[in-house]
Amino acid sequence: MTQRILALPDHLVNQIAAGEVVERPANAVKEILENALDAGATKIDIALQQGGIKHIRISDNGSGIDADDLALALHRHATSKIRSLGDLESVASMGFRGEGLASIAAISRLSLSSRPADAAHAMSVTAIDGVVHAPTAIAHGLGTTVEVADIYFNTPARRKFLKSDSTEWAHCLVAIERIALSRPDVAFTVTHNQKSVYQLPAQNLSERMAAIVGQDFADAALSIDGDNGLMHIHGFIAKPTYSKGKADKQFVFVNGRFVRDKIVLHAVKQAYQDVLHLALTPAFVLNIALPPEQVDVNVHPTKSEVRFRDSQSIHRLVFHALHQALAQTDATHTESVNN
Ligand code: ADP
Ligand code: MG
Repeated sequence: MTQRILALPDHLVNQIAAGEVVERPANAVKEILENALDAGATKIDIALQQGGIKHIRISDNGSGIDADDLALALHRHATSKIRSLGDLESVASMGFRGEGLASIAAISRLSLSSRPADAAHAMSVTAIDGVVHAPTAIAHGLGTTVEVADIYFNTPARRKFLKSDSTEWAHCLVAIERIALSRPDVAFTVTHNQKSVYQLPAQNLSERMAAIVGQDFADAALSIDGDNGLMHIHGFIAKPTYSKGKADKQFVFVNGRFVRDKIVLHAVKQAYQDVLHLALTPAFVLNIALPPEQVDVNVHPTKSEVRFRDSQSIHRLVFHALHQALAQTDATHTESVNN
């Protein structure tokens, strides 16, 4: 006898789908931080407990959410960022799928509190196990606070995949550092188990790199700048003398978004090999900016991979910018040896 087909209830659909976006606390942290940036925040405060498993609290001073929209913000595919498929092709915000908050809400106890500039007071909604409760008034400054408790408390099978507090914390820290490096103009504070980890004022990229990647890297970094009329690259790469060429100190941002990209990595490697005959690729922070329609960010659930329309041009841009900077140090090096 065949089994009848049933449409799954929304609640279960959300829980299943949540696994795509929120594999661990670090993914929730990333989604919430990206929302804060999309809201134009200039200051973001992050407080985590037990690697983010027990509790995540992120407050921003961004635009806030209308009281009427608060509950909707927790619904899947509810977004203020795109209106049509056409918008998707030129999306400039970090989010656009309306899945972040819904995914987190499906697998935790979540509260969303917000006060937009034109509101007399703040409102708050909570979602427990994906069920959204009616908004209540709350005391809160301008901006938004998201609190997430007990990730995966309602899905024990998934909870088993979470690692120790310290491992989850390490993942959260990586996510936070990527965001902080992508936006040195935004101030961040970070605490873990009540201990202060970062207090970053709004700074320039060099200062932010010193704080996140290390003073020794910032001191030994070469400035990169390149443009091909359509795309622009700026950033810093380690001088070859800076030996800590660790893969975890390699940051590529495309239109402000941290990405892993083989084409960019390949171009960087090739530049080092070509000029310095070095097989290793030292630390770097590269910001690539291009018109949004030149890059598809909608290829990966966590948006950590992108597809370039013209990957050859990207490769050339990166290679030439690095080649030029490295060739200069090479020349200086030879000169000082000859003298
Ligand atoms: P997305 O970011 O893809 O739109 P989310 O589920 O992450 O989807 O958020 C849903 C909506 O909630 C956003 O489109 C935005 O309007 C609102 N929102 C979420 N977080 C914030 C925030 N910190 N400040 C202002 N608005 C927010
Ligand atoms: Mg979002």
